[in-house]
Amino acid sequence: MGRGAARTLRVHVPAKINLHLGVGPRRPDGFHDVATVLQTVSLFDTLLLTLQEEPHAAHPAARRRMRATLTVDSGSGPAVSAGPDNLALVAARRLMAHLGIGGASGGGRTGEAATDTGTDGDRAGPTTRLHLTKRIPVAAGMAGGSADAAAALVGLNRLWDADLEPDVLHDLAALVGSDVPFCVEGGTALATGTGTSVARVLNRTVTHWVVGVDREPLSTADVYARFDDLEPPAPSSPDGLLQALRTGDVDELAPLLRNDLEPAAVLLRPALAERRAALLDHGALAALVSGSGPTLLGLARDAADARRLAAAVADRFDAVEVVSAPAGGPEVTVGAGT
Ligand code: ATP
Repeated sequence: MGRGAARTLRVHVPAKINLHLGVGPRRPDGFHDVATVLQTVSLFDTLLLTLQEEPHAAHPAARRRMRATLTVDSGSGPAVSAGPDNLALVAARRLMAHLGIGGASGGGRTGEAATDTGTDGDRAGPTTRLHLTKRIPVAAGMAGGSADAAAALVGLNRLWDADLEPDVLHDLAALVGSDVPFCVEGGTALATGTGTSVARVLNRTVTHWVVGVDREPLSTADVYARFDDLEPPAPSSPDGLLQALRTGDVDELAPLLRNDLEPAAVLLRPALAERRAALLDHGALAALVSGSGPTLLGLARDAADARRLAAAVADRFDAVEVVSAPAGGPEVTVGAGT
């Protein structure tokens, strides 16, 4: 730490699930149009942001020498890179470029990635330290990386007193990834286009889920490639599900959950079929693959039922989590917190 003042914010950011994931055919540009109902769940990553400024360094000229570094605590999951490809740093660089502070290129070392100032290598400028603690399963269809990008955008906007309007943050988010605009807002939303067009949805249903974690990642790109080889699914509309969310009745919701990527994910990871069946055998109201998988979701009647279900299927998964939804959006608190 330098001698100047340090300011710290803590961002708690939730994972997402898709209650409906309708996928259209591959477009000429390689993307797929989707119609998806997304919801955040109470499984969180934490991004700690610390701005270290030398005395008298609040001057905009000093901010132009901003440096951002990242360290990652991957917890019990697979090691997540702290290099420039980490989506939290990708988002930080987008924001820095937009604000005209620091540089837009990254260079990493093991355990720490530095977004270089792009000036003369002078280290006297301010430093923003990002420290990410992972809890959201990685490459698991729960948008963990996108959530971390959203945490960086929302948190750094505040830490650097940038005061960007929500629509500006949304546009920066869409440049980082399809799920990032939703992750910036959280809650329950309908996303269309490639997923970046996000509309808030009225929801009166609190749901409780068992999240069945498979630590062996499944690449989203591989799942989409397998999807492209299959007969296209019948076109679907999320309207029934959107109506069910307004009722507050979990029994109305259960039969309407749908994921068009599920057949492709199951073909790539056949064990998913029997694990899904186990969730249903043990009383889940519905069971489906989360996003591109391999995480499985079991819908429970209430919180106690979710705990019972989690215990019953625990031996089928690398880990099980009990979560509720919706879980709001990125939450910023001042100070390092707990
Ligand atoms: P989605 O549901 O959006 O497809 P996912 O949950 O399947 O995402 P992520 O956990 O976001 O997948 O990880 C996808 C890839 O992104 C991984 O291979 C990982 O190495 C990389 N990645 C980059 N930044 C992060 C991050 N902050 N957290 C996790 N993975 C990251």
